[in-house]
Amino acid sequence: MSKALPTREENYSEWYNELVKRANLAENSAVRGCMVIKPYGYAIWEKMQRALDDMFKETGHTNAYFPLFIPKSFLSKEASHVEGFAKECAVVTHYRLKNDPDGKGVVVDPEAKLEEELIVRPTSETVIWNSYKNWVQSHRDLPILINQWANVVRWEMRTRLFLRTAEFLWQEGHTAHATREEAVAETNQMLEVYAKFAEEWMAVPVVRGRKTANERFAGADDTLCIEALMQDGKALQAGTSHFLGQNFAKAFDVKFQDKTGKQEFVWGTSWGVSTRLMGALIMAHSDDLGLVLPPKLAPIQVVIVPIYKGEEQLNAIFERMEPTIKSLKVQGISVKFDDDDSARPGWKFAEYELKGVPVRIAVGARDLENHQVEVARRDTLSKESVSMDGLDQYLINLLNDIQNNIYKKALAFRTANTFEVNTWEEFTQKIEEGGFLSAHWDGTSETEEKIKELTKATIRCIPLDFKEEEGTCILTGKPSKGRVLFAKAY
Ligand code: AMP
Repeated sequence: MSKALPTREENYSEWYNELVKRANLAENSAVRGCMVIKPYGYAIWEKMQRALDDMFKETGHTNAYFPLFIPKSFLSKEASHVEGFAKECAVVTHYRLKNDPDGKGVVVDPEAKLEEELIVRPTSETVIWNSYKNWVQSHRDLPILINQWANVVRWEMRTRLFLRTAEFLWQEGHTAHATREEAVAETNQMLEVYAKFAEEWMAVPVVRGRKTANERFAGADDTLCIEALMQDGKALQAGTSHFLGQNFAKAFDVKFQDKTGKQEFVWGTSWGVSTRLMGALIMAHSDDLGLVLPPKLAPIQVVIVPIYKGEEQLNAIFERMEPTIKSLKVQGISVKFDDDDSARPGWKFAEYELKGVPVRIAVGARDLENHQVEVARRDTLSKESVSMDGLDQYLINLLNDIQNNIYKKALAFRTANTFEVNTWEEFTQKIEEGGFLSAHWDGTSETEEKIKELTKATIRCIPLDFKEEEGTCILTGKPSKGRVLFAKAY
């Protein structure tokens, strides 16, 4: 058995890194900032993808695919977009290597220089709006409701597995509409889809909010976001939905003829969540023993560990468990019967705890006699003896209960770590302890930046349920119309 994980208390960051590696979710790759997503990690991501994809389809979207490479000139067409992304672009300059004239290896062939350099997409607005130009003529061509599942590259300097990587997997929705109202409604709708996914599938409560001008997506008129609180008191931006106004339509000359025959620019939105959600999932729920996965996203939801001596006992256990296994599978529950005889039950228990399997069943010869099994739940680590009669239904109820309990626990944590603060002294003291701070702000970018410089805290969002309230800015004492949410963030 390998040594125990560092505890969250000892070193949260080490705990996270070790957990990601030991639970076989991902590992670093030869290229700094890139990661290998291992099968167990990918299985969770696939479950996320499936649920999200269903939600996108339910809201009328279809999937398509656009190229990885973007001509450099495209990126420059929308001024604030290029300004935001230029700092972190990977650029393709050549298309061929040749043998090194000095004998060893290969070098870039200087003769194979691209006429126009290509950007590896950091996001696809430009390449997609360049296509939309050809797709839209009349109001009958609208709306376009498209999503793409892809990888993107942003040359991040400070990276961390899942949370911030140089290459990451994500989905990006890109929609085009005839009216501003429709595009705004789409922006709001997709934020709600993300919030619902975070809360109902990931069991992570989120604050729905609006980014300040400073934190807005480069090229958007408005950025909505969901913000989650991690167990170390740091916030994580878990998803964004952007109202693009007519910015990309103007940059790529995407116009349509409205019902009266007038030419108008199209309105746009874009929205995305990434493999960062994996980081959110891990950080929000897991404990010092390993992952705690919400049942809806767990690759294995129920594991059965037989405790036996010899083939005969093993067969007897399997036979008695088989109807339960079958019934669970029919009802869409993933069950594993672990008859691997190269590992001891105690080792298996620890391994499934590390992997975050929500429910573990142990069953031995004595249990068969008593017509019962031992059921252990990962979230509370409690165990109880349960009759084999109606075990399938008991387990289905238990999985639901675990899903709800994990959410409630995360919500209670967030509630206990959200504070209203009213003085600068309180602010600076509390921000060191972590959590969301709800505080007055004078509404200027200068003050926001000053606060960041002094405390490393940023405005995570102006909550959508923002209430007007007379107050004075936490830093400058100038008048404020209401509270915004600050935190240190990943
Ligand atoms: P954006 O296009 O900047 O609005 O980002 C879309 C989504 O990708 C957001 O949910 C971000 O949290 C996420 N994201 C942005 N940068 C990274 C990164 N370097 N690694 C992983 N996820 C990211």
